[in-house]
Amino acid sequence: MATVASDLLSARLTEIVGADRVMGASQARTQYAGDQWWYAIAAAAAGQPVSTPDVAARPATPEQVAAILRLANELLVPVTPWGGGSGVQGAANADRGGIVLDLRDLNRVRHIDHKSLTCVVEAGVSVRDFEAMLNAQGLCFTHYPASAEWATIGGSIAARGSGVLSSKYGKIEDHILNLEFVTPTGELVTTPSVPRHAVGPELTQLMVGAEGTLGVITAATVKLRPLPKRRAFLVAEFDDLAAGIEAGRVIMVNGLRPPVMRLYDVHAASHSLARAVEATLDKATFVIMFDGEYPQLVDTEASIARDVLLAHGARLLPEALGELWWERRYVFYYPPYAPELPSIWGTVDVVADFEHIEAVYHATTEAMRAVVPAEYNLSLNTHLSHWYEWGSMIYARMKVPKGPDDLSEAKALHDAIFRAGVEAAMKAGAVMNDHHGVGLRLAPFMDAQYGAGMESLRRIKRALDPNNILCPGKLGL
Ligand SMILES: Cc1cc2nc3c(=O)[nH]c(=O)nc-3n(C[C@H](O)[C@H](O)[C@H](O)COP(=O)(O)OP(=O)(O)OC[C@H]3O[C@@H](n4cnc5c(N)ncnc54)[C@H](O)[C@@H]3O)c2cc1C
Repeated sequence: MATVASDLLSARLTEIVGADRVMGASQARTQYAGDQWWYAIAAAAAGQPVSTPDVAARPATPEQVAAILRLANELLVPVTPWGGGSGVQGAANADRGGIVLDLRDLNRVRHIDHKSLTCVVEAGVSVRDFEAMLNAQGLCFTHYPASAEWATIGGSIAARGSGVLSSKYGKIEDHILNLEFVTPTGELVTTPSVPRHAVGPELTQLMVGAEGTLGVITAATVKLRPLPKRRAFLVAEFDDLAAGIEAGRVIMVNGLRPPVMRLYDVHAASHSLARAVEATLDKATFVIMFDGEYPQLVDTEASIARDVLLAHGARLLPEALGELWWERRYVFYYPPYAPELPSIWGTVDVVADFEHIEAVYHATTEAMRAVVPAEYNLSLNTHLSHWYEWGSMIYARMKVPKGPDDLSEAKALHDAIFRAGVEAAMKAGAVMNDHHGVGLRLAPFMDAQYGAGMESLRRIKRALDPNNILCPGKLGL
């Protein structure tokens, strides 16, 4: 990559977007010092930020995004798209300098189709604002990540995110009909208007989860749904996590569709869940929710699921706990529940089919525990959420209350915990991530995850981005 003076970059970007949408190096390095990856936060606090942009720009139209990418190719300067900066894997950090492309001024809702229940929304719209706008019209976008406060629609798509309703409505990739995006060399593309077709491979889905390496998403056509008329909750405890997993499997493979399926292991139930719902819980605990337009159907599904739980040895807890969980479902992720420095924290979130899921749970959590010396008091709270008709994800949330003072030693401990968890999970039959993405944190494992397929991904990257402008080095490409 060429070294281009920040002043020259700012001047050329100003010609495209105007002076009020360009930020010079010192301001950009403060504002975009890091995303929500633990190491990005710790490194910025230690004065050694991972993200060191030379300039930041806030385009307001897709054409401006395209012009910026053409400029970056002319000057050979790296570009890193930035949505809400809420990613937890380090993907949005401009670790090689260059331009941060803040997309939050692409913030229009272009069109709502009330017949098809679809909407064309620009990439920089915040998930929270989008939902509030839809709710006011009796509609919803059933992608409910805990980071809705910050995350953008484009960032959710680029990171292949998921929300608490995913077991019925799917991950973000299931919510998209088509995309508008800008290629790394600056051409504006719109993919076929619907996702079910037979006109070749799915270009839309090539962009999903690409974490900004293959193109910049500027808008998406997404599915909407009516706000549900009824929600029904089930809360149940199990002596044995395995019995809970089996009950969940029976619910999913037989076609019941609860949006919420959260099975907390005994550690997560007694620590985080118990605190959030203000109850004493000392066993693996399942929180399940059904919703829908037709109350009778919702209640029937809940009643069948209740029978499945009981048949697997569950003891039912008051439904009110489920309602409280729903109201407080995001508190787990914010102060005073969320960890802060000097802690080390992070989540190994892996996904596997039902044949392997129990083995993956044990292998992952045991491997993570095994690498942490006792004096660091590792806490590991794990739940299984985001269930599919073929399997589930495992969310192993670790915290070391006080790691080594030295930043590189703290990072070594963090990396060792992740390496242990991810490698054990893959060995036991899991895919190394369900919905947080790869970023800088998991990039070292991409070759192991994809094997020979990694070369195909690298060739796609080289073909689309011959000058390696977009997020160079990310995703292990
Ligand atoms: C408290 C908390 C809770 C969270 N809960 C969830 C959760 O429930 N579910 C979940 O999935 N995630 C969750 N996350 C992780 C994070 O919010 C998601 O990964 C989210 O999708 C990131 O969106 P963003 O707009 O902040 O993207 P950013 O973090 O800004 O960017 C993520 C990646 O996408 C790229 N990118 C951003 N916008 C575009 C675009 N328009 N075109 C191309 N590339 C782009 C960036 O370059 C980067 O590689 C959570 C994070 C936090 C801090």
